[in-house]
Amino acid sequence: MGMTMTQKILANKAGLDKVVPDQLILADLDMALGNDITAPVAIGEFRKLGLDKVFDEKKVSLVMDHFTPNKDIKAAEQCRYVREFANEMDIENFYDVGEMGVEHALLPEKGLVVAGDLIIGADSHTCTYGALGAFSTGVGSTDLAAGMATGKAWFKVPSAVQFVLTGEMQEHVSGKDVILHIIGMVGVDGMLYKSMEFAGPGVKNLSMSDRLCISNMAIEAGAKNGIFPVDEKTLEYIAVHSDRKPVIFEADEDAEYEKVYEINLSEIKPTVAFPHLPENTRTIDEVGDIKIDQVVVGSCTNGRLEDMIMAAEILKGRKVAKGVRTIIIPATQKIYMDSMKMGLLEIFINAGAIVSTPTCGPCLGGHMGILAKGERAVATTNRNFVGRMGHPESEVYLASPSVAAASAVLGRIASPAELNGREG
Ligand code: SF4
Repeated sequence: MGMTMTQKILANKAGLDKVVPDQLILADLDMALGNDITAPVAIGEFRKLGLDKVFDEKKVSLVMDHFTPNKDIKAAEQCRYVREFANEMDIENFYDVGEMGVEHALLPEKGLVVAGDLIIGADSHTCTYGALGAFSTGVGSTDLAAGMATGKAWFKVPSAVQFVLTGEMQEHVSGKDVILHIIGMVGVDGMLYKSMEFAGPGVKNLSMSDRLCISNMAIEAGAKNGIFPVDEKTLEYIAVHSDRKPVIFEADEDAEYEKVYEINLSEIKPTVAFPHLPENTRTIDEVGDIKIDQVVVGSCTNGRLEDMIMAAEILKGRKVAKGVRTIIIPATQKIYMDSMKMGLLEIFINAGAIVSTPTCGPCLGGHMGILAKGERAVATTNRNFVGRMGHPESEVYLASPSVAAASAVLGRIASPAELNGREG
C-alpha cells in the first residue's frame, strides 16, 4: 500500500522510506512557531533546559499578534518576555507591532513556508500551511519548547480521508463556504487526528486564498492537518513570496484513505455556521431573520487581500446598517497597505466601517470588538464557541467576507445576492 501526501512528507523528514498510520516518528522541523500567548510558556520551558541558543535562529518564528498592540499590562509583559528572548537568541523571524500580522497570514506572505516543509506551531490553526503543500500542525507550548531546542518533534503518523473536489464555485461562494460545508457534513470531530487530503479537478479552480482558508479550518473538523496538492498556482505563489525551493510530494496512486468524499464545488451555496459550533451549518437560504449587532472581517481565516476585496465589492457605495458595528482587520501590514493602495480602506470608511491595525483581536475575544450579553456577530473567523468573542451569552455566526459584508449592510444575516438591484 502506498503513502498519502502527508505520510510522504513525514517519512522524508524522519529519514524513512515508508511510514504507516499510527507509527511514532521523530522528524526534522523546518519551522517552529509561537505567538504572544503560547511563546511565553514555551520560552519558560526552554529556559529550564539551560540552553543558550535555539536549534536554528532562522527556523523559529515568534509573532506578536493575539493581544497586540498590547491590550493590557499582562499582554505587555508577555510581549516583553518574548521580545527579550528573541533578541537574546537572535531570532530572525520575530514580528512585533509595525511588522507583525496574524501569524498564519504572515508566514506564507513572508515566504517562510514552502511546499514539502514540516512546521509546528503552538497555535491550533498552524494547519493553514497545508494549502502550500506543506505538513503543518498545531502543538502545545512544551512541544514548541522541545522543537526550538532540538529542531525535532515526535509525531504519530495520521491516517487520511480524501476530499475529491470537482466543478467550480458559483458567484459569492468562496473557500470559507467550502470548508463550512465540509465541517457541517463531517462534524467537529469527524476528522479526529486524520489528514484531510484535498484532490481532484476542482482544486485548480480554487485560489491560493481559498485553499489557505480551507486548510486553516481543518482543525475545526478535528483534523491533524489539511493539505492540498502542489500545482501551478502553488508554485507561482511560492515563487512570488519566497526564495526557498519547494519540494513537491504527491500521494501514491494506491495510497490508503479511510474514506473518500466527492464534493462538487458548483453545488455549494453561501454557508453560515450558527452558534456554538462550526458544524452547525445552514445554507444562506435556510438562515431566517437574524438581526446582528456586529460584523468582523479579518483573522487568519479571512483577513487576506482577496477577503478585503470581497468585502469591498459589497460595501462599495453602500452604508452599513445603523447599529451594526463593522470592524475590518487586514491580517498583515502588507494586506493593509495593498488595501490602502487599492482604495479599499476608503470604501470601508465611507460605508461606516472601521479599519484596524492587524491583530487577532476580537477573533478570540481579546480586544477590538468584544460582544456584550445577548449580542450577535457575523464574523469571518473560524470559531463560534460559547463566549469566543465576548460574553458567554453572546453569539457568533461564521461566514465568508461576502456574507459578512452583505449582513453589515442589511443589519441581519444576509446573502450578497439580496443586494442585487439595490444601489451600490
Ligand atoms: Fe487564532 Fe483567531 Fe488569531 Fe487565527 S486570528 S491565530 S484563530 S486568534
